[in-house]
Amino acid sequence: MLALPPVLSDLIQRLSSLPGIGPKAAERLGLALLRRDLHEVQALADALLACRERVGDCPRCGCLSQDGELCAVCADGFRDGRLLCVVETALDAIALERGGGFKGRYHVLGGALSPLRGVLPEDLRIAQLLARIREESTQEVVLATNASPDGEATALYLKQELLALAQPEDALQAPLFVRITRLARGLPSGAQLDYADAATLHSALEHRTDF
Ligand SMILES: [Zn+2]
Repeated sequence: MLALPPVLSDLIQRLSSLPGIGPKAAERLGLALLRRDLHEVQALADALLACRERVGDCPRCGCLSQDGELCAVCADGFRDGRLLCVVETALDAIALERGGGFKGRYHVLGGALSPLRGVLPEDLRIAQLLARIREESTQEVVLATNASPDGEATALYLKQELLALAQPEDALQAPLFVRITRLARGLPSGAQLDYADAATLHSALEHRTDF
């Protein structure tokens, strides 16, 4: 077998560790980069570093944002703050935005509850969600967790938490009544949101049902 120069095989190995890139694709990418102008490769390296350093979680909703500022949806004054869509990951919010038509805001949980994998309520951004609902006078919460067993369990848990807002244990807190909806079942069962096509997601949000 032809031995590759060590730096090139190192690059190929790093590329193949990325999701969706097998060894063959990594090899093609690595060799293609060798043929690019030096400044183009430099620009690519700069873009990688800039993203890694500057992109993080939106301080309000947990979607992707730059330099610690609010994300584009949170910063958009035309979004309806009374309508909140709860998703597992920022990728899910991106997928729903691609579907278009949703005028509310998002809240990223950072995963789904999973007793088997040791993911408990305190590991997710659930306390922040409940605080937001109080602060922003949310009227409807769309539970857009995945249609997987963990996603369903998370939706059920959140439903209990949201219903409890109507009967606060703390007598000083005003009771809150929020409409709870779930994405419509146009989605294949067990489906992950970020793999669904835009039209399916658009329709699932449009036809969401009380949960
Ligand atoms: Zn945000």
